[in-house]
Amino acid sequence: MSHTKPIVLSTVAEMRDLQKTWSGRVGFVPTMGALHAGHSTLLSRSREENEISVLSIFVNPTQFGPNEDLAKYPRTLERDLSIAGAEGVDYVFAPTPDEIYPNGYSTYTEEQTLSAPLCGKFRPGHFRGVTTVVQKLFNIVQPEHAYFGLKDAQQFFVLHKMCRDLNLPVKMVGVATIRENDGLALSSRNVYLTPQQRERAPLLYKTLSETRDQILRTHGENEESLLRSAVKNLEDAGFQVQYLEHLGLPNFTAVEPLKPSLLAVAVYLGTTRLIDNVILHQSGLPAFGIRTLD
Ligand code: AMP
Repeated sequence: MSHTKPIVLSTVAEMRDLQKTWSGRVGFVPTMGALHAGHSTLLSRSREENEISVLSIFVNPTQFGPNEDLAKYPRTLERDLSIAGAEGVDYVFAPTPDEIYPNGYSTYTEEQTLSAPLCGKFRPGHFRGVTTVVQKLFNIVQPEHAYFGLKDAQQFFVLHKMCRDLNLPVKMVGVATIRENDGLALSSRNVYLTPQQRERAPLLYKTLSETRDQILRTHGENEESLLRSAVKNLEDAGFQVQYLEHLGLPNFTAVEPLKPSLLAVAVYLGTTRLIDNVILHQSGLPAFGIRTLD
């Protein structure tokens, strides 16, 4: 592992000039910063598989709704740069919002099918913001590989579809969710949890995994009642459940026996929104051209 400090760039022009000088495979990890061990795993995969490894840090305003946490989203640049250095990142692209969305900006990328269910129902415009910024970042960095966490599974499948639909020459790689020892998925938003909420939070993954095991055991029989009792279990413990859904992959269609599927949940714990998911029959994803790593 290299511990040299990465080179930080903040303008598109600098990034473009640099990008033209690169030869070899470029691995890219887009993030909103406030890096944790989940991000580190993406960075180490990028380092392993590419000659050049690039991280972007950009809290993207267009993916936040008007009542969401854009202003208070954690920003920890100095710490992020030392994590990036430890993970062998060569270049960090950290632009300002004005650099990415200059005055009069008016062009958006929108995936229209996979963005609709799950979080799409509760965060209107969120995926349009994600696809827009990721397409722009892909244009600027021009990576061969891009690494995303399966923690945000819908984001990964939406972006995979965007690449396919728009013929973008980027190979998407989905990386398994990194969790705390008690099962809670690492998230930059976990810092918002009070100590009491943090203690309760692992029930989310526990409920998901138990529901997955029951679905597998019963071959999907009585699935609706399994999902209903999982929701009740979470609500009884003080979670406000936005959705708990089981959908077929990769297109969020009806679940088919033994085919890949996604069991996904979104809740509020107090004022903090948490999401998590598990993938069933993940070994079937390569048949759809989808690459994931553990
Ligand atoms: P964010 O900074 O939250 O936008 O996340 C940047 C990338 O890190 C996204 O591809 C996320 O899916 C991924 N990521 C976030 N949390 C985790 C985690 N616990 N495990 C693996 N990847 C993660």
